[in-house]
Parts: sequence; structure tokens; C-alpha cells
Amino acid sequence: MFSGIQPSGGLTLGNYLGAIRRFVTMQDQGGFAQTLYCMVDMHAITVWQDPDALRRNTRELAAGYLAAGLDPARSILFNQSRVPEHAQLAWVFNCVARMGWMGRMTQWKDKAGKNAEAASLGLFAYPALMAADILLYHATHVPVGEDQKQHLELTRDVAAKFNHDYGVDFFPVTEPVIEGTATRVMSLRDGTKKMSKSDPSDASRINLTDDADTIARKIRKARTDPEPLPSDYAGLRDRPEARNLVNIYAALSDQGTDQVMRTHGGSQFGAFKPALAELAVETLAPISAEMARLMQDPAEIDRTLAAGALRARDIAAPILERTYDIVGMLR
Ligand code: ATP
Ligand code: MG
Repeated sequence: MFSGIQPSGGLTLGNYLGAIRRFVTMQDQGGFAQTLYCMVDMHAITVWQDPDALRRNTRELAAGYLAAGLDPARSILFNQSRVPEHAQLAWVFNCVARMGWMGRMTQWKDKAGKNAEAASLGLFAYPALMAADILLYHATHVPVGEDQKQHLELTRDVAAKFNHDYGVDFFPVTEPVIEGTATRVMSLRDGTKKMSKSDPSDASRINLTDDADTIARKIRKARTDPEPLPSDYAGLRDRPEARNLVNIYAALSDQGTDQVMRTHGGSQFGAFKPALAELAVETLAPISAEMARLMQDPAEIDRTLAAGALRARDIAAPILERTYDIVGMLR
């Protein structure tokens, strides 16, 4: 099993609920030959990153993984650029994937915006690198948030086209693992937009490193509508901001949304928001405290990532060699 997060900013509640928390569950439940969790720094530079900020964000992301419960003895934790096979396989996949496939990606359209001419070539090719990240380990399961579903479908297309073009059965079909009540946490300012670590508005998200007061203030100021919460979840259909807060509450408290509605249906936001803030602080405070502790020793984080990269390369190198061989490159 493989998954990754970009060190393109600080971690958000969306990253935690949609990704990291589930990484930990999947590590702990066992049953996979190997779990690998990556800090995808090469994806991050598809949009401009200040070099010092990138270094810091990569370490902070590693600290977030560790603080949330990923264990370097059980999972391989590493940053992508330390395993050059990612870039090497991505090149092969650049030659397998089609321009038309890339042009249809929602993330490309969202991030390139109206001025696609000025976007980096790397941003366009992003999904081919992501396919390489996954298929380099023959990963069959990839836990991600809802927004990455389309990229995982493309990963399957890349694997299928490679296998077909070369007449082999080499790359596996990958299953996205998208489950729970928080597969798409929305912005606190706009219930139709995903919460993102790279959103220019800090008020749109809860960062794992926010203190209790900041979390409470952001939730208090989160956009909502004037109605109280309805008595059942179906009543939230056309109320994206309210639905988002209920979904977050359900995910943080490990309850179903129906259960949350049974307790909080009829509440005004004046009562629901403080309850949500309290729950968020309770969950995030121990993680942010541990992240701060780990960040005091960056050299130790670097050692953990270097050791993880060596183990990742042990798996990746033979798969890349076999790929080159299939493609017909002299070795
Ligand atoms: P960026 O804005 O730089 O793209 P991001 O917050 O979208 O950052 P990514 O590194 O792109 O984070 O994604 C890492 C993982 O977190 C992916 O599995 C993605 O699906 C998941 N994720 C990101 N945002 C959310 C969200 N709002 N809700 C649930 N999961 C999310
Ligand atoms: Mg993203």
C-alpha cells in the first residue's frame, strides 16, 4: 500500500481526516505486505515553493506522520526525491499517458486556472508522476481523499495501457481506498471548495499546528446559514457549509452522521460550533504538541527519512529495472 502528501504548506484537518488518520489505521490493521507513506516533494514543486519553506514543510509533514501514529519500524516513511526511481518511472509513464487524459484532470484545470499557458509542464504531467509513485511499488491499495479519485483512475489507465502496449501483465490494477465521513472536507469560507493547505486564505482551513484559540475562532467564524441544524442528514442536502461541519463532527467523534443528527438536530450554530471546536482541539492538540516536539530535532527526522528511502529503493529498483527491460532499454 502506498500514499503520499505534498509538502506544499502546513497540514490541514482535511489532510488529517482524509488521509493521515486512515494511513495509521491501515498500518495498524496490518494485512498489507508493506505500507509506504511518502512526502511527495517533487509534486510540491509543480507550483513554486520557496526552498527554505519546502525543506521546513517536508520535515513538518514527516513530523505530522509520526505524531499521528505512523511508525517507521512498520511503515516506510520517506521523501520522494530521495528515491530517483520515481522520476525515472514517471518518464516512461509520460510516454504512455496521453495529452488528452491529462487535459481532462480536474486538479489540472483548478490549479492551472485561466492561464494554463503559464502553468508548469510538471503541473500538467503531475498524474503520470503520481502513477509512477504508486506502480513503482506495485501498490494495489491507495488511501486518498475524494479529490484524488480521478488521478487513481488515470493510474489504472496507465497500468492497463502499459501492459497492453508491451503485451505483459506487469503493473497491477490499483484500488483507491476512499472511505469514511471526511473524504472531502470543505473550506470553512466556501462550502463548495475543498479545504486545501495551499489555499491563500488561512481562515479557510484548520492547520494541525493551530492552537486551541485559533481553532475555536476559525470554527466560530466558519461560514454557515441562519437555520438551525435539521433533524436528519437528508435535510443538509442543499446546505454545503452546514453539512461540512456535521461531516467533520462525525469524523472527529467516530460516529455516523445519523448519530450526530440525533444528538445535535435542532441545535443552533451558536451551540454546535463550540461543541465542534472542543472536539477538534481535543483531537488535534496532542498531535500538534508532538509535532512541535519532533520539530526540535530536525536531524533526527532527516535520519528517519534517509533510512526510509533506502528501504523504498530496495523495492523500487528491481521494478524499475524490469520496466526498462520490458520497454527495451539496454542495461
Ligand atoms: P494542495 O492544496 O497543495 O494540493 P492539499 O491539501 O490538497 O494540498 P495534497 O497533498 O494535495 O493536499 O493531498 C494529500 C492527501 O490529502 C490526498 O490523499 C488528498 O486526497 C487528501 N486531501 C486533501 N485535501 C482534502 C480534504 N479537504 N478532505 C479530505 N481529504 C483531503
Ligand atoms: Mg491537493
